[in-house]
Order: sequence, then structure tokens, then C-alpha cells
Amino acid sequence: MPLVKTTAIILRSRKWGDADRIVTFYAKNLGKIRGVARGARRLKNRFGAALEPFTLCRLNLFEKAGDSLFRISHVDLVSPQTDHCAACGRTHLVGEPQFSPMAGGLVCLTCATHQRVRCVTLSRGSLSFLQQAIRLAPDVVTRLRATGRVRNEVEEAIEEYVTVVAGKRLPPVDFLSPALLV
Ligand SMILES: [Zn+2]
Repeated sequence: MPLVKTTAIILRSRKWGDADRIVTFYAKNLGKIRGVARGARRLKNRFGAALEPFTLCRLNLFEKAGDSLFRISHVDLVSPQTDHCAACGRTHLVGEPQFSPMAGGLVCLTCATHQRVRCVTLSRGSLSFLQQAIRLAPDVVTRLRATGRVRNEVEEAIEEYVTVVAGKRLPPVDFLSPALLV
């Protein structure tokens, strides 16, 4: 069984058998695929909360000949970079924060002009909201509330990021409500 490493966004996760989960995700280069996470519903399991919908993660998968279902062997959560420029590494970013969907985090103003996908300009309020959301566990994130400008900007940043990772625009999803951040 060949090992496949990929970045993916979880679309759906449902119970399977006694202790497993069947997970549907969009993976870079692979498109929409399904995998089984053995033991994912046991109290102590190696997947943790990483298999929740709209989680961005790095996956190790095994492909079995003649079976469209992948075996998920390892999952790492990916959190967007907000401390330094995700493209050149420069710290002490100045000006309005620029979120680059391609780089998966904030970039400095110089790098922002070289991104293939337009950057989303964030206000300081949106930036601190994102930073808070990244630090919190997925079940706590659902209790954060965003309104007005912060909500619009964060929504746009997440949507652009998901589009880049998935390799195409997914059907419109209201990422901040009601299941995720409202
Ligand atoms: Zn830079």
C-alpha cells in the first residue's frame, strides 16, 4: 500500500462501525476523497479533534489497490501563521495585516504584492480574532463571536484559504455560522 502525504480540508466526518470514522475531504492534487480513520471514536485516539469539518490538516494516507477508501494513518492540524511573514520570514510586520491564502498566513507588504492569489487585508480586530481562534481548541472556537467588519474579513480570509488548499472553490459555505464561529 503506497503512502500518500497531502494537505486537506475535512468536509464531513461520520461514524463507522464501532469505533471508526469515515472522513470526506478535499485534498491537494487528489480532489474529493474518502478515508477511514480506525479507532477515531475511542476516548484516547491518535486523531484527537483533527477530524472535525472544516479543519485544515496534513494527512498521511495509505491507498489500497481496488479500494476507493483510503486508510488515514496520521493527521496534523495546520494553523495559519500570524507571527511573522509566512513568505520571507520577516518579523515586526508593519501596516495593515495582509493575509495570504497562498502562503497560509500573514505576509509583509513586499511579499503581499507578489502573491499569485490576492491577499485579504485584515483590520487589527480581525487579526486578534483569528489569533484567538487558532490558539483555541475547535470546540471552544464555536463559542467565539464575530460581528460586522471582523466577521466579513475573517470569513473572506478563511474562504480564500480553503479555496487555495482545496484547489478549487467549494460550494458556498457560511464558515462562521451556525456550526462554527457564531
Ligand atoms: Zn515577506
